[in-house]
Amino acid sequence: MIAIHKTKVNDVQKIFKTEIEQQRLAAISKLTALDTTTTSKKDKDYLKSIINLFINNNDFLLWDSKKLHNEKDLVGNVPMVPKTVKGVRKMVKSKIKDKILVALDYKRLRNTFYPKYFKEIGIKACVYCNSQLTISAIKNSKKEYSAKFDVDHYHSKDDYPFLSISLFNLYPACASCNRLKSTNPIELELYSDNAFKTKNSSYKFKLNSNAKAKYLTTKDSNEIEFSFVEPSYVPGVKKFNEVFHIEGVYQTQVDLIEELIIKSQIYNSSYLKTLEDNFKKLNLHPALFKRTLIGNYTEDKDIHKRPMSKLVMDIAKELELIK
Ligand SMILES: [Zn+2]
Repeated sequence: MIAIHKTKVNDVQKIFKTEIEQQRLAAISKLTALDTTTTSKKDKDYLKSIINLFINNNDFLLWDSKKLHNEKDLVGNVPMVPKTVKGVRKMVKSKIKDKILVALDYKRLRNTFYPKYFKEIGIKACVYCNSQLTISAIKNSKKEYSAKFDVDHYHSKDDYPFLSISLFNLYPACASCNRLKSTNPIELELYSDNAFKTKNSSYKFKLNSNAKAKYLTTKDSNEIEFSFVEPSYVPGVKKFNEVFHIEGVYQTQVDLIEELIIKSQIYNSSYLKTLEDNFKKLNLHPALFKRTLIGNYTEDKDIHKRPMSKLVMDIAKELELIK
């Protein structure tokens, strides 16, 4: 729901410079090995272009969104091959696509490298819905589990398998948004050098008119109505609510809004002053006071740090619990 400044991402990439270079070299070696076992000319030509891309550009895994967008078609499309399905002959993508994904080791990286890389950038919540974490547990064997970091590929790995480990092509997302997004065209530039966009989200949760009064009369949290307000988009691009069912997901969490309404009623100015005075004695950063008060982050730039932060901060500001 908000962009991250590219400079911050570049700084983190510098920390992991050696590991990222190892990923590129390992990719070259595994793709070259794949080439020796590939027989189809179309597959071989496609693979050769990819190997050259990795060899000739030692910053290939660090290409930014603009460069990925402009040059993603450099190597052409995944070769198509005939296949007969239920007696009908049709053209499908060559299996070389899946072999490239295996060679690039994307699945292993999401359990090993991506968790620490995105932790350093500060992303723990889904960049699309902000309602869930981007980590899910998977069972490896009868007794062993591991944490899997879910990422969505801005340029799909189905069409662009060679971009599956390009860092600016990775959008951390929860399993549900990843599944729902599929190939739906949506608009979110996650990595940006526009300072305004990295400080201000263009999405907003808003209470419907009289929602607070209605709740205070009925005492029923199910009566709390809110809306998810989105920027207007160009035709052909779907809204977040349409793709990720945002209002439906958050409707199950209205008890959070209920607590904020209650706080807005009982935290009067003299009580807030006492709290703040006591807080000052701890000599902590002032931003921590607001965070403690509402139980979540309070600025748009921090919404990737914790699930539900966008809803909580928007409603808390609307109720004037925080400024
Ligand atoms: Zn999500």
